[in-house]
Amino acid sequence: MDFLSFWRRLKPSPPLRARRCVLCHDSVSDGLCAGCSDDVAEAFTDAANSCPLCFRHMAGGAVCGQCQKKPPKFERLWASVYYEPPVSGMIHHFKHLGDLSMRLPLADLMCRHAPDWLDAAGIDFVLPVPLSKARRLYRGFNQSEELADILAQRYGWQVLPRQWIERAHTPPQSTLKSSGRLRNVKNIFKLNNPLPENCKILLIDDVVTTGATLDELAQTLKASGAGAVYCWCLSRSRLKR
Ligand SMILES: [Zn+2]
Ligand SMILES: [Zn+2]
Repeated sequence: MDFLSFWRRLKPSPPLRARRCVLCHDSVSDGLCAGCSDDVAEAFTDAANSCPLCFRHMAGGAVCGQCQKKPPKFERLWASVYYEPPVSGMIHHFKHLGDLSMRLPLADLMCRHAPDWLDAAGIDFVLPVPLSKARRLYRGFNQSEELADILAQRYGWQVLPRQWIERAHTPPQSTLKSSGRLRNVKNIFKLNNPLPENCKILLIDDVVTTGATLDELAQTLKASGAGAVYCWCLSRSRLKR
């Protein structure tokens, strides 16, 4: 047996250069190289053809039928990119494989396609959508918190303390049909602290599907004193429905 070559294989490989593009691994100052940066821009959402309230696809950008019938509890929702490759892969690596090198490039994507109502909203506090204690422990971090921290720093916002809001542990929304999603999030949030009266809160989330969780959280926050709730999500599916 070639013991020396066996030993060599065991040795850790030399550290990669610290700064690499997270997609193509080309050397780059930080995050994404120029080429990959252009590629991901293809996934920016089409706000002109989205419902201004819930951000579902809506030709011409009119308020959708569902919002006309039953407006959401939040004022506005915005998603920066569609959930499709290569961005969906970045989110998967970040959220499920714990690859924190994705947090900066993903937050950058959000800033490159930020809500058009952001300045007018006059945000007082930012709140990452909480995870239940069990899920946070299992994952080791809250992906929305990681994004919210970067955004809060860039925009000069105050983040609401995590301890103020608790979330009960329920099955992930992604495992349920849409009919079960409303029931699954009913009354799952609990506030431990009164909110400053009439404050304006911006919720940050990574992936929005039906918006049921955001709606439930907005309702809880408003029942506890919030005057307005806005939602800024990293991504949503491109499905036209
Ligand atoms: Zn690249
Ligand atoms: Zn709508």
